[in-house]
Amino acid sequence: MASIFTKIINGDIPSYKIAEDEYNFAFLDINPNAKGHTLCVPKKEVDKIMDLDEESYMRLMAFSRKVGVALEKAVPCKRVGMSVIGLEVPHVHVHLIPLQSMANATFQHKEELTKEEFEAVAEAIRAHL
Ligand code: 5GP
Repeated sequence: MASIFTKIINGDIPSYKIAEDEYNFAFLDINPNAKGHTLCVPKKEVDKIMDLDEESYMRLMAFSRKVGVALEKAVPCKRVGMSVIGLEVPHVHVHLIPLQSMANATFQHKEELTKEEFEAVAEAIRAHL
């Protein structure tokens, strides 16, 4: 069965899209640690990052860097943190998280955003790509 992220990539489930290229897709995390929390995922559905072939891994990292640079310009923060962690969705995803403090990196504190706030931050990130 297709993962929830494959359904997002295919447009079967809506998302706040940030960027896309031939191999990768970026969108806002629906349950963000901080405003602007973005997920970068390979279009190829692979569960674990260490199972990606080297080329796909390098492409994902380059894509994530590009999105992270835009995110750091768009959202006031001390820096953008990057992590590949989590056991929920069996589809590789790079978390890009604007950090004000290390609490934003713990996945304990979550921020509630309105639809308008999601749309506005997505637009701000896209504008810096
Ligand atoms: P993890 O596998 O990293 O533990 O969890 C998956 C991440 O994807 C979580 O941060 C969660 O909020 C996010 N996520 C799960 N389902 C959806 C969804 O349907 N849409 C979006 N945008 N993000 C999701």
